[in-house]
Amino acid sequence: MWNIGGKDDGMIPNERDAALRARAKQVVPGGMWGHQNAANLPEGYPQFFESARGCRIRDVNGREYVDLMCSFGPMVVGHQHPEVEEAARRQAERGDCQNGPGEVMVELAELMVDTVAHADWVQFQKNGTDATTVCVTIARAATGKRKVLVARGAYHGAAPWCTPYPAGVMTEDRAHLLHYDYNDVASLTAAVGQAEGDLAAIVVSAFRHDLAKTQELPTPEFARAARALCDATGAALILDDVRAGFRLHLGGSWEPVGVRPDLSAFSKAIANGHALAAATGNDRFREAATKVFTTGSFWTGAVAMAAAVATLKVMRREDAPARMEEAGTRFRQGMDALAAKYGVPIEQSGPVQMPMVLFTGDTEFRFANTFCVAALAEGGYFHPKHNMFLSTAHAPADIDAVLHAADAGFRAVAALG
Ligand code: PMP
Repeated sequence: MWNIGGKDDGMIPNERDAALRARAKQVVPGGMWGHQNAANLPEGYPQFFESARGCRIRDVNGREYVDLMCSFGPMVVGHQHPEVEEAARRQAERGDCQNGPGEVMVELAELMVDTVAHADWVQFQKNGTDATTVCVTIARAATGKRKVLVARGAYHGAAPWCTPYPAGVMTEDRAHLLHYDYNDVASLTAAVGQAEGDLAAIVVSAFRHDLAKTQELPTPEFARAARALCDATGAALILDDVRAGFRLHLGGSWEPVGVRPDLSAFSKAIANGHALAAATGNDRFREAATKVFTTGSFWTGAVAMAAAVATLKVMRREDAPARMEEAGTRFRQGMDALAAKYGVPIEQSGPVQMPMVLFTGDTEFRFANTFCVAALAEGGYFHPKHNMFLSTAHAPADIDAVLHAADAGFRAVAALG
C-alpha cells in the first residue's frame, strides 16, 4: 500500500525540491496527496519536476533522467510530442472549456469506436476513477441489480466505492462489493454465487497489476469464465483498462485473450498526458448510458480531445503496442543479463510494455530501494514497487541508457551482501 499522509523521513534529496516540499507542507495537507507523495519513494527521489521531453524528465534541481514511469501511464508517445501538442495548441486557440463540446468530440468518439473492438459508443470524462465509476453506474442502471465483483487487491480508483484506503469511507459505500481472486475461476464463480441473483457487474483489470506483487496476464480460462458468468446472469463485464489501455493492444487489452467486455474504462494513455477519460460500451448498454446522469464541468474540454485524436492517430500509425513491446523486450532481456552478471535474482512479470521488477525475497524492499537510488544517480528513473511504463519514445538507445543506470543499481545491491 502507498504511504499516505505525507510521512517524511527528514532527508533532503536536493535543495530546490526540499524547499518546495517545505513550502507545500504549509499549504497542502501532508505536502502532497496520494501516491505522488515522494515519501513513497526511496530517499533521494525528487517530488517536483521542471520539464519533460520524449522519454526524458528533468527535476527541479536540473537533474535529467530517462523516465520509466511515464507520469504513471499517461505519457505514451513521448512528452511534448509535436503532433499532439500542435493539435492541442490549435484547439486551444479556438476554445477549450465552452458551453458545450467542440466538433472534435464527435471526431474523437468516431475514432475511439473505430479503434476499440467492443465499443459501439463512448462517453468522455477526465480521470480513470470517473470512467470506472461511470461504468459501474451504467451496469447497475442497465441491470437494475446491485452487486459488483472486484478482484482482491485490484485498484479501480480513489472514490469511496473502490479506494483501498479506509479513511472517510463508510461500510455502506461498499455494501454491494464482493471479492474474487484474479485468475481464479473457482473464486469468481463462488463470488457470483454470493451475489444471489443480484449481480450488476464483474469488474476485471486488464491484467493483475497489483502494487508490489507479481503481475499476471489473464488466463484464457479466467477471461472466458468471466464472460460466460456475465452472459449467464445478464451482468456487465467491465474491463478496467485505465492503466494498460493502448499499451497492450489498441483494440482493448483483452483482445489478445479473445474476450470482449461490455463496458471498458480508459484514461491514462488516451491523450498523452492531457486530462481525459472514456467509458466505452456495446449496444446492450447504450440505453442505460443515455439515462445515467454523468457530467463534469470540464468533461467537454476540447483541448484534451484534440490531443487524444492526435495521440490515437500516432499510436495507430506507429503500431504503438508493438513498438513498446520491442523496447520492453530489450529492457527485460537487459535486466535479466544484469541480474545474472551480479548474481542478484530478480523476478520480472506482466507484459513487457509495463515492466515490473521485483527482487527475490526482498519483502522489505531493501534491495529495490538500494537499486533505485543507485540507478537514479546514474539517470534512470525506476520505481521500486509499482509497475513501470514504456512509451513509443523509448528508443533502443534510451533503453540502453536505462540499463547502464541499472548496472549501477545491481552493483549497489550486490554490495549489500
Ligand atoms: N483503474 C486503474 C487500473 C488505475 O491504475 C487507476 C489509476 N492508477 C485508476 C483506475 C484511477 O485512475 P485515476 O487516478 O485517473 O482516477
